Amino acid sequence: MSKRDKYNLRCSFCGRDKSEALILVAGIDAHICEVCTEQAQEIINDELGKKQLLEENFDLPNSLTPLDIKTHLDQYVIGQDEAKKYLSVAVYNHYKRLAQVDDDEIEIEKSNILLVGRTGTGKTLLAKTIAKFLNVPFAIVDATVFTEAGYVGEDVESILSRLLQVCNYNTELAEKGIIYIDEIDKIARKSDNPSITRDVSGEGVQQAMLKMLEGTEVHVPPHGGRKHPEQKLINVNTSNILFICGGAFDGVEKIIARRVNTHVIGFKGSDEKEEIDREHLLQYITQKDIKSFGLIPELIGRLPVLTYLEPLDIDALRQILTEPKNALLKQYKKLFQLEGIDLKITDEAIEFIAQKANDFNLGARGLRSICEAIMTDAMFELPSKKDVKTFTINKDYAEQKLSKSKLTKLKAA
Ligand code: ADP
Repeated sequence: MSKRDKYNLRCSFCGRDKSEALILVAGIDAHICEVCTEQAQEIINDELGKKQLLEENFDLPNSLTPLDIKTHLDQYVIGQDEAKKYLSVAVYNHYKRLAQVDDDEIEIEKSNILLVGRTGTGKTLLAKTIAKFLNVPFAIVDATVFTEAGYVGEDVESILSRLLQVCNYNTELAEKGIIYIDEIDKIARKSDNPSITRDVSGEGVQQAMLKMLEGTEVHVPPHGGRKHPEQKLINVNTSNILFICGGAFDGVEKIIARRVNTHVIGFKGSDEKEEIDREHLLQYITQKDIKSFGLIPELIGRLPVLTYLEPLDIDALRQILTEPKNALLKQYKKLFQLEGIDLKITDEAIEFIAQKANDFNLGARGLRSICEAIMTDAMFELPSKKDVKTFTINKDYAEQKLSKSKLTKLKAA
Protein backbone atom coordinates (compact mmCIF):
# COMPACT_ATOMS: atom_id res chain seq x y z
CA MET A 1 0.00 0.00 0.00
CA SER A 2 1.44 3.36 -0.94
CA LYS A 3 1.86 6.06 1.64
CA ARG A 4 -0.80 8.14 -0.09
CA ASP A 5 -3.40 5.34 0.06
CA LYS A 6 -2.73 4.78 3.72
CA TYR A 7 -3.84 8.28 4.54
CA ASN A 8 -6.79 8.18 2.18
CA LEU A 9 -8.63 5.09 3.46
CA ARG A 10 -12.14 4.31 2.24
CA CYS A 11 -14.70 1.55 2.79
CA SER A 12 -14.27 -0.75 -0.19
CA PHE A 13 -18.01 -1.47 -0.21
CA CYS A 14 -19.77 1.89 0.10
CA GLY A 15 -16.81 4.13 -0.65
CA ARG A 16 -17.15 6.18 2.53
CA ASP A 17 -14.05 8.00 3.61
CA LYS A 18 -12.36 7.12 6.91
CA SER A 19 -13.38 10.47 8.32
CA GLU A 20 -17.07 9.64 7.74
CA ALA A 21 -16.97 6.14 9.20
CA LEU A 22 -16.91 5.30 12.88
CA ILE A 23 -14.85 2.18 12.38
CA LEU A 24 -12.99 0.94 9.34
CA VAL A 25 -11.92 -2.69 9.55
CA ALA A 26 -8.89 -3.54 7.46
CA GLY A 27 -8.58 -6.69 5.37
CA ILE A 28 -5.61 -7.80 3.28
CA ASP A 29 -6.45 -5.54 0.42
CA ALA A 30 -9.67 -3.80 1.41
CA HIS A 31 -11.58 -2.06 4.17
CA ILE A 32 -15.14 -2.27 5.43
CA CYS A 33 -17.02 0.28 7.54
CA GLU A 34 -19.36 -0.51 10.44
CA VAL A 35 -22.52 0.24 8.41
CA CYS A 36 -21.58 -2.21 5.65
CA THR A 37 -20.67 -4.85 8.24
CA GLU A 38 -24.14 -4.56 9.74
CA GLN A 39 -25.81 -4.78 6.36
CA ALA A 40 -23.75 -7.80 5.41
CA GLN A 41 -24.76 -9.47 8.68
CA GLU A 42 -28.43 -8.83 7.92
CA ILE A 43 -28.10 -10.35 4.46
CA ILE A 44 -26.41 -13.42 5.94
CA ASN A 45 -29.11 -13.83 8.60
CA ASP A 46 -31.84 -13.47 6.01
CA GLU A 47 -30.39 -16.06 3.67
CA LEU A 48 -29.52 -18.53 6.41
CA GLY A 49 -32.95 -18.09 7.97
CA LYS A 50 -34.70 -18.79 4.68
CA LYS A 51 -32.55 -21.81 4.01
CA GLN A 52 -33.15 -23.18 7.47
CA LEU A 53 -36.90 -22.63 7.18
CA LEU A 54 -36.98 -24.55 3.93
CA GLU A 55 -34.86 -27.36 5.29
CA GLU A 56 -36.88 -27.62 8.47
CA ASN A 57 -40.11 -27.63 6.58
CA PHE A 58 -39.62 -29.67 3.51
CA ASP A 59 -37.00 -32.29 3.77
CA LEU A 60 -38.90 -35.45 4.46
CA PRO A 61 -36.84 -37.21 7.08
CA ASN A 62 -34.94 -39.93 5.29
CA SER A 63 -36.42 -42.60 7.45
CA LEU A 64 -40.04 -41.54 6.83
CA THR A 65 -42.01 -44.09 4.83
CA PRO A 66 -45.54 -44.17 3.40
CA LEU A 67 -46.38 -46.49 6.29
CA ASP A 68 -45.32 -43.79 8.77
CA ILE A 69 -47.59 -41.30 7.03
CA LYS A 70 -50.51 -43.72 7.17
CA THR A 71 -49.84 -44.56 10.81
CA HIS A 72 -50.00 -40.87 11.58
CA LEU A 73 -53.28 -40.50 9.67
CA ASP A 74 -54.69 -43.44 11.64
CA GLN A 75 -54.45 -41.38 14.80
CA TYR A 76 -56.81 -38.74 13.46
CA VAL A 77 -58.95 -40.35 10.78
CA ILE A 78 -61.13 -43.40 11.34
CA GLY A 79 -61.35 -46.04 8.61
CA GLN A 80 -60.79 -44.97 4.99
CA ASP A 81 -57.81 -47.32 4.69
CA GLU A 82 -57.76 -47.29 0.94
CA ALA A 83 -57.73 -43.49 0.72
CA LYS A 84 -55.06 -43.28 3.41
CA LYS A 85 -52.85 -45.72 1.56
CA TYR A 86 -53.16 -43.91 -1.79
CA LEU A 87 -52.65 -40.56 -0.15
CA SER A 88 -49.59 -41.68 1.81
CA VAL A 89 -47.91 -43.05 -1.29
CA ALA A 90 -48.80 -40.02 -3.42
CA VAL A 91 -47.55 -37.55 -0.84
CA TYR A 92 -44.41 -39.60 -0.20
CA ASN A 93 -43.64 -39.69 -3.92
CA HIS A 94 -44.40 -36.01 -4.26
CA TYR A 95 -41.82 -35.01 -1.68
CA LYS A 96 -39.35 -37.57 -3.00
CA ARG A 97 -39.81 -35.93 -6.37
CA LEU A 98 -38.95 -32.55 -4.87
CA ALA A 99 -35.82 -33.97 -3.30
CA GLN A 100 -34.64 -35.71 -6.46
CA VAL A 101 -31.37 -34.62 -8.01
CA ASP A 102 -31.58 -34.35 -11.78
CA ASP A 103 -29.03 -36.94 -12.73
CA ASP A 104 -30.88 -38.56 -15.58
CA GLU A 105 -33.67 -37.86 -18.02
CA ILE A 106 -36.43 -39.51 -16.07
CA GLU A 107 -38.63 -36.84 -14.65
CA ILE A 108 -41.10 -37.94 -12.02
CA GLU A 109 -44.48 -36.38 -12.69
CA LYS A 110 -46.62 -34.72 -10.12
CA SER A 111 -49.08 -36.93 -8.29
CA ASN A 112 -52.08 -34.68 -7.68
CA ILE A 113 -54.89 -36.53 -6.01
CA LEU A 114 -58.66 -36.81 -6.46
CA LEU A 115 -60.69 -37.95 -3.45
CA VAL A 116 -64.24 -39.07 -4.07
CA GLY A 117 -66.60 -39.57 -1.16
CA ARG A 118 -69.78 -38.28 0.40
CA THR A 119 -69.80 -35.16 2.50
CA GLY A 120 -68.45 -35.55 6.02
CA THR A 121 -66.46 -38.71 5.38
CA GLY A 122 -63.06 -37.15 6.06
CA LYS A 123 -61.74 -35.81 2.75
CA THR A 124 -60.73 -32.42 4.11
CA LEU A 125 -59.58 -33.95 7.36
CA LEU A 126 -57.19 -36.27 5.51
CA ALA A 127 -55.66 -33.45 3.50
CA LYS A 128 -55.40 -31.20 6.54
CA THR A 129 -53.83 -33.89 8.72
CA ILE A 130 -51.22 -34.77 6.15
CA ALA A 131 -50.22 -31.12 5.60
CA LYS A 132 -49.88 -30.60 9.33
CA PHE A 133 -47.78 -33.72 9.68
CA LEU A 134 -45.41 -32.59 6.94
CA ASN A 135 -45.43 -29.04 8.25
CA VAL A 136 -46.10 -27.52 4.85
CA PRO A 137 -48.36 -24.56 4.12
CA PHE A 138 -51.90 -25.73 3.50
CA ALA A 139 -54.92 -23.93 2.07
CA ILE A 140 -58.49 -25.04 1.47
CA VAL A 141 -60.41 -23.49 -1.39
CA ASP A 142 -63.89 -24.12 -2.66
CA ALA A 143 -64.21 -24.72 -6.38
CA THR A 144 -67.77 -23.36 -6.45
CA VAL A 145 -66.67 -19.74 -6.15
CA PHE A 146 -64.66 -19.79 -9.34
CA THR A 147 -65.90 -18.73 -12.70
CA GLU A 148 -64.32 -18.37 -16.05
CA ALA A 149 -62.16 -15.25 -16.43
CA GLY A 150 -64.29 -12.26 -17.17
CA TYR A 151 -67.39 -13.46 -15.37
CA VAL A 152 -68.70 -12.60 -11.92
CA GLY A 153 -66.88 -14.67 -9.29
CA GLU A 154 -63.26 -15.34 -8.53
CA ASP A 155 -60.52 -16.15 -11.00
CA VAL A 156 -58.89 -19.52 -10.45
CA GLU A 157 -55.60 -17.76 -9.74
CA SER A 158 -56.97 -16.71 -6.39
CA ILE A 159 -56.62 -20.38 -5.31
CA LEU A 160 -52.99 -19.47 -4.85
CA SER A 161 -53.76 -16.25 -2.98
CA ARG A 162 -55.05 -18.34 -0.09
CA LEU A 163 -51.84 -20.32 0.06
CA LEU A 164 -49.75 -17.15 -0.08
CA GLN A 165 -51.78 -15.66 2.76
CA VAL A 166 -51.23 -18.76 4.87
CA CYS A 167 -47.45 -18.46 4.59
CA ASN A 168 -47.31 -14.72 4.93
CA TYR A 169 -46.58 -14.14 1.25
CA ASN A 170 -43.37 -16.14 1.35
CA THR A 171 -43.42 -17.39 -2.23
CA GLU A 172 -40.71 -19.98 -1.66
CA LEU A 173 -42.74 -21.62 1.10
CA ALA A 174 -45.97 -21.42 -0.87
CA GLU A 175 -44.38 -23.15 -3.82
CA LYS A 176 -43.99 -26.33 -1.80
CA GLY A 177 -47.38 -26.32 -0.14
CA ILE A 178 -50.53 -28.37 -0.43
CA ILE A 179 -53.85 -27.02 -1.70
CA TYR A 180 -57.12 -28.78 -1.08
CA ILE A 181 -59.77 -27.90 -3.66
CA ASP A 182 -63.14 -28.83 -2.26
CA GLU A 183 -66.30 -29.52 -4.26
CA ILE A 184 -64.44 -30.11 -7.49
CA ASP A 185 -67.53 -32.01 -8.69
CA LYS A 186 -69.50 -28.76 -8.73
CA ILE A 187 -67.54 -27.52 -11.74
CA ALA A 188 -68.46 -30.59 -13.76
CA ARG A 189 -69.86 -29.85 -17.15
CA LYS A 190 -73.58 -30.21 -17.12
CA SER A 191 -73.78 -32.97 -19.69
CA ASP A 192 -71.37 -35.48 -21.15
CA ASN A 193 -71.48 -33.73 -24.53
CA PRO A 194 -69.38 -30.63 -24.91
CA SER A 195 -71.92 -27.85 -25.05
CA ILE A 196 -72.05 -25.23 -27.76
CA THR A 197 -73.36 -22.67 -25.31
CA ARG A 198 -71.03 -21.27 -22.71
CA ASP A 199 -70.85 -23.10 -19.41
CA VAL A 200 -69.52 -20.30 -17.24
CA SER A 201 -68.97 -22.14 -14.01
CA GLY A 202 -68.17 -25.53 -15.46
CA GLU A 203 -65.89 -26.39 -18.31
CA GLY A 204 -64.33 -22.93 -18.54
CA VAL A 205 -63.14 -23.17 -14.96
CA GLN A 206 -61.81 -26.67 -15.53
CA GLN A 207 -59.85 -25.38 -18.53
CA ALA A 208 -58.47 -22.52 -16.47
CA MET A 209 -57.26 -24.93 -13.81
CA LEU A 210 -55.31 -27.21 -16.12
CA LYS A 211 -52.02 -25.34 -16.30
CA MET A 212 -52.05 -24.56 -12.63
CA LEU A 213 -52.45 -28.19 -11.62
CA GLU A 214 -49.72 -29.29 -13.96
CA GLY A 215 -47.22 -26.65 -12.97
CA THR A 216 -46.67 -23.21 -14.38
CA GLU A 217 -45.89 -19.62 -13.46
CA VAL A 218 -49.10 -18.02 -12.29
CA HIS A 219 -49.61 -14.30 -11.72
CA VAL A 220 -51.48 -14.23 -8.45
CA PRO A 221 -53.51 -11.33 -7.08
CA PRO A 222 -52.13 -11.24 -3.51
CA HIS A 223 -55.47 -10.48 -1.92
CA GLY A 224 -57.54 -12.83 -4.01
CA GLY A 225 -60.70 -11.84 -5.83
CA ARG A 226 -60.47 -10.57 -9.35
CA LYS A 227 -57.40 -9.11 -10.90
CA HIS A 228 -57.48 -5.41 -10.25
CA PRO A 229 -55.12 -3.32 -12.29
CA GLU A 230 -53.87 -1.62 -9.14
CA GLN A 231 -52.99 -4.93 -7.43
CA LYS A 232 -49.35 -5.85 -7.86
CA LEU A 233 -49.36 -9.50 -8.95
CA ILE A 234 -47.05 -12.06 -7.37
CA ASN A 235 -45.48 -14.79 -9.50
CA VAL A 236 -45.94 -18.27 -8.11
CA ASN A 237 -44.60 -21.42 -9.73
CA THR A 238 -47.00 -24.30 -9.12
CA SER A 239 -44.73 -27.15 -10.28
CA ASN A 240 -44.10 -28.34 -6.74
CA ILE A 241 -47.45 -27.54 -5.19
CA LEU A 242 -49.46 -30.65 -4.47
CA PHE A 243 -53.14 -30.35 -5.32
CA ILE A 244 -55.65 -32.58 -3.59
CA CYS A 245 -59.15 -32.28 -5.00
CA GLY A 246 -62.22 -33.61 -3.27
CA GLY A 247 -65.85 -34.00 -4.18
CA ALA A 248 -68.97 -35.96 -3.33
CA PHE A 249 -69.79 -36.68 -7.00
CA ASP A 250 -73.42 -37.32 -6.10
CA GLY A 251 -74.85 -39.91 -8.44
CA VAL A 252 -71.53 -41.32 -9.61
CA GLU A 253 -72.53 -44.67 -8.12
CA LYS A 254 -75.23 -44.96 -10.78
CA ILE A 255 -72.61 -44.38 -13.46
CA ILE A 256 -70.37 -47.03 -11.89
CA ALA A 257 -73.28 -49.47 -11.63
CA ARG A 258 -74.07 -49.00 -15.30
CA ARG A 259 -70.47 -49.58 -16.30
CA VAL A 260 -69.99 -52.54 -13.99
CA ASN A 261 -73.15 -54.19 -15.31
CA THR A 262 -72.02 -53.93 -18.91
CA HIS A 263 -68.63 -55.18 -17.91
CA VAL A 264 -70.06 -58.23 -16.20
CA ILE A 265 -72.24 -59.08 -19.20
CA GLY A 266 -69.22 -58.65 -21.45
CA PHE A 267 -67.33 -61.27 -19.54
CA LYS A 268 -70.19 -63.68 -19.06
CA GLY A 269 -69.00 -67.20 -18.87
CA SER A 270 -65.51 -66.27 -17.79
CA ASP A 271 -64.27 -68.12 -14.73
CA GLU A 272 -62.49 -65.04 -13.52
CA LYS A 273 -65.71 -63.07 -13.18
CA GLU A 274 -65.45 -61.02 -10.07
CA GLU A 275 -68.23 -60.89 -7.50
CA ILE A 276 -69.47 -57.28 -7.46
CA ASP A 277 -70.10 -55.75 -4.05
CA ARG A 278 -73.13 -53.64 -4.92
CA GLU A 279 -73.34 -52.04 -1.51
CA HIS A 280 -69.97 -50.39 -1.97
CA LEU A 281 -69.76 -49.43 -5.60
CA LEU A 282 -67.42 -46.52 -5.03
CA GLN A 283 -64.51 -48.93 -4.69
CA TYR A 284 -64.77 -49.63 -8.43
CA ILE A 285 -64.51 -45.99 -9.44
CA THR A 286 -62.31 -45.21 -12.41
CA GLN A 287 -61.29 -42.12 -14.32
CA LYS A 288 -63.91 -43.08 -16.90
CA ASP A 289 -66.73 -42.63 -14.39
CA ILE A 290 -65.39 -39.23 -13.43
CA LYS A 291 -65.39 -38.30 -17.10
CA SER A 292 -68.99 -39.45 -17.51
CA PHE A 293 -69.82 -37.32 -14.48
CA GLY A 294 -68.57 -34.25 -16.32
CA LEU A 295 -64.93 -33.56 -15.60
CA ILE A 296 -62.95 -33.02 -18.78
CA PRO A 297 -60.31 -35.65 -19.61
CA GLU A 298 -57.51 -33.07 -19.49
CA LEU A 299 -58.35 -32.23 -15.89
CA ILE A 300 -58.70 -35.89 -14.92
CA GLY A 301 -55.29 -36.51 -16.49
CA ARG A 302 -53.78 -33.97 -14.15
CA LEU A 303 -55.20 -35.76 -11.12
CA PRO A 304 -53.57 -39.15 -11.67
CA VAL A 305 -54.20 -40.55 -8.20
CA LEU A 306 -57.87 -41.40 -7.80
CA THR A 307 -59.24 -42.88 -4.61
CA TYR A 308 -62.49 -43.05 -2.67
CA LEU A 309 -63.81 -42.69 0.85
CA GLU A 310 -66.40 -45.08 2.21
CA PRO A 311 -69.67 -43.75 3.64
CA LEU A 312 -69.39 -43.93 7.43
CA ASP A 313 -71.53 -46.54 9.16
CA ILE A 314 -72.75 -46.38 12.77
CA ASP A 315 -69.70 -48.19 14.04
CA ALA A 316 -67.33 -45.75 12.35
CA LEU A 317 -69.35 -42.80 13.64
CA ARG A 318 -69.13 -44.20 17.18
CA GLN A 319 -65.37 -44.54 16.84
CA ILE A 320 -65.07 -41.00 15.48
CA LEU A 321 -66.77 -39.75 18.63
CA THR A 322 -64.27 -41.35 20.95
CA GLU A 323 -61.08 -42.59 19.31
CA PRO A 324 -59.17 -39.98 17.26
CA LYS A 325 -56.56 -37.93 19.09
CA ASN A 326 -58.84 -34.92 19.15
CA ALA A 327 -62.13 -36.85 19.14
CA LEU A 328 -65.24 -34.79 19.64
CA LEU A 329 -66.11 -36.27 23.02
CA LYS A 330 -62.54 -35.78 24.23
CA GLN A 331 -62.95 -32.11 23.35
CA TYR A 332 -66.17 -31.81 25.35
CA LYS A 333 -64.59 -33.61 28.29
CA LYS A 334 -61.76 -31.10 28.21
CA LEU A 335 -64.17 -28.17 28.09
CA PHE A 336 -65.97 -29.46 31.18
CA GLN A 337 -62.70 -30.27 32.86
CA LEU A 338 -61.69 -26.64 32.54
CA GLU A 339 -64.76 -25.89 34.66
CA GLY A 340 -63.64 -28.48 37.20
CA ILE A 341 -66.36 -30.91 36.10
CA ASP A 342 -65.80 -34.56 35.23
CA LEU A 343 -67.99 -35.31 32.19
CA LYS A 344 -69.14 -38.89 31.70
CA ILE A 345 -71.03 -40.16 28.68
CA THR A 346 -72.48 -43.63 28.82
CA ASP A 347 -71.92 -46.15 26.02
CA GLU A 348 -75.66 -46.13 25.26
CA ALA A 349 -75.59 -42.36 24.86
CA ILE A 350 -72.63 -42.65 22.48
CA GLU A 351 -74.43 -45.32 20.48
CA PHE A 352 -77.52 -43.11 20.37
CA ILE A 353 -75.55 -40.12 19.02
CA ALA A 354 -73.89 -42.28 16.35
CA GLN A 355 -77.25 -43.68 15.33
CA LYS A 356 -78.81 -40.25 15.00
CA ALA A 357 -75.88 -38.98 12.92
CA ASN A 358 -76.37 -41.96 10.66
CA ASP A 359 -80.08 -41.12 10.32
CA PHE A 360 -79.29 -37.52 9.37
CA ASN A 361 -77.03 -38.76 6.59
CA LEU A 362 -74.49 -35.98 7.01
CA GLY A 363 -71.54 -38.23 7.71
CA ALA A 364 -69.46 -37.19 10.69
CA ARG A 365 -70.58 -33.60 10.20
CA GLY A 366 -73.85 -34.47 11.93
CA LEU A 367 -72.05 -35.60 15.08
CA ARG A 368 -70.98 -32.12 16.02
CA SER A 369 -74.45 -30.58 15.69
CA ILE A 370 -76.02 -33.43 17.64
CA CYS A 371 -73.48 -33.11 20.45
CA GLU A 372 -74.02 -29.35 20.59
CA ALA A 373 -77.78 -29.87 20.83
CA ILE A 374 -77.31 -32.32 23.69
CA MET A 375 -74.65 -30.44 25.63
CA THR A 376 -75.59 -26.77 25.24
CA ASP A 377 -77.93 -26.64 28.25
CA ALA A 378 -75.32 -28.26 30.48
CA MET A 379 -72.59 -25.99 29.15
CA PHE A 380 -74.81 -23.01 29.85
CA GLU A 381 -75.94 -23.95 33.34
CA LEU A 382 -73.09 -25.84 34.99
CA PRO A 383 -70.42 -23.10 35.09
CA SER A 384 -72.64 -21.15 37.51
CA LYS A 385 -73.25 -24.19 39.77
CA LYS A 386 -69.97 -24.35 41.63
CA ASP A 387 -70.92 -27.46 43.64
CA VAL A 388 -71.35 -29.75 40.62
CA LYS A 389 -68.22 -31.86 40.19
CA THR A 390 -69.42 -34.64 37.90
CA PHE A 391 -71.97 -34.71 35.13
CA THR A 392 -73.24 -37.80 33.35
CA ILE A 393 -74.99 -37.91 30.00
CA ASN A 394 -77.00 -41.07 29.52
CA LYS A 395 -79.22 -42.10 26.65
CA ASP A 396 -82.41 -40.66 28.21
CA TYR A 397 -80.78 -37.29 28.76
CA ALA A 398 -79.40 -37.25 25.21
CA GLU A 399 -82.75 -38.26 23.74
CA GLN A 400 -84.61 -35.63 25.72
CA LYS A 401 -82.27 -32.77 24.78
CA LEU A 402 -82.17 -33.77 21.14
CA SER A 403 -85.94 -34.06 20.85
CA LYS A 404 -86.22 -30.43 21.97
CA SER A 405 -83.75 -29.19 19.40
CA LYS A 406 -84.39 -28.00 15.88
CA LEU A 407 -82.19 -30.80 14.61
CA THR A 408 -84.98 -33.34 14.80
CA LYS A 409 -86.73 -31.40 12.02
CA LEU A 410 -83.72 -32.13 9.83
CA LYS A 411 -84.65 -35.74 9.57
CA ALA A 412 -88.23 -34.98 8.74
CA ALA A 413 -87.07 -32.69 5.92
P1 ADP B 1 -65.55 -33.89 3.89
O1 ADP B 1 -65.42 -35.31 3.43
O2 ADP B 1 -66.90 -33.34 3.55
O3 ADP B 1 -64.41 -33.03 3.48
P2 ADP B 1 -64.54 -33.41 6.53
O4 ADP B 1 -63.21 -34.02 6.41
O5 ADP B 1 -64.61 -31.91 6.49
O6 ADP B 1 -65.54 -34.00 5.47
O7 ADP B 1 -65.22 -33.91 7.87
C1 ADP B 1 -65.99 -33.10 8.71
C2 ADP B 1 -65.66 -33.42 10.15
O8 ADP B 1 -66.10 -34.72 10.46
C3 ADP B 1 -64.17 -33.40 10.43
O9 ADP B 1 -63.74 -32.22 10.98
C4 ADP B 1 -63.98 -34.54 11.42
O10 ADP B 1 -64.14 -34.06 12.72
C5 ADP B 1 -65.11 -35.47 11.16
N1 ADP B 1 -64.75 -36.65 10.36
C6 ADP B 1 -65.18 -36.95 9.11
N2 ADP B 1 -64.74 -38.13 8.71
C7 ADP B 1 -63.95 -38.60 9.68
C8 ADP B 1 -63.17 -39.80 9.85
N3 ADP B 1 -63.13 -40.75 8.90
N4 ADP B 1 -62.49 -39.94 10.99
C9 ADP B 1 -62.53 -39.00 11.95
N5 ADP B 1 -63.26 -37.86 11.87
C10 ADP B 1 -63.96 -37.66 10.76
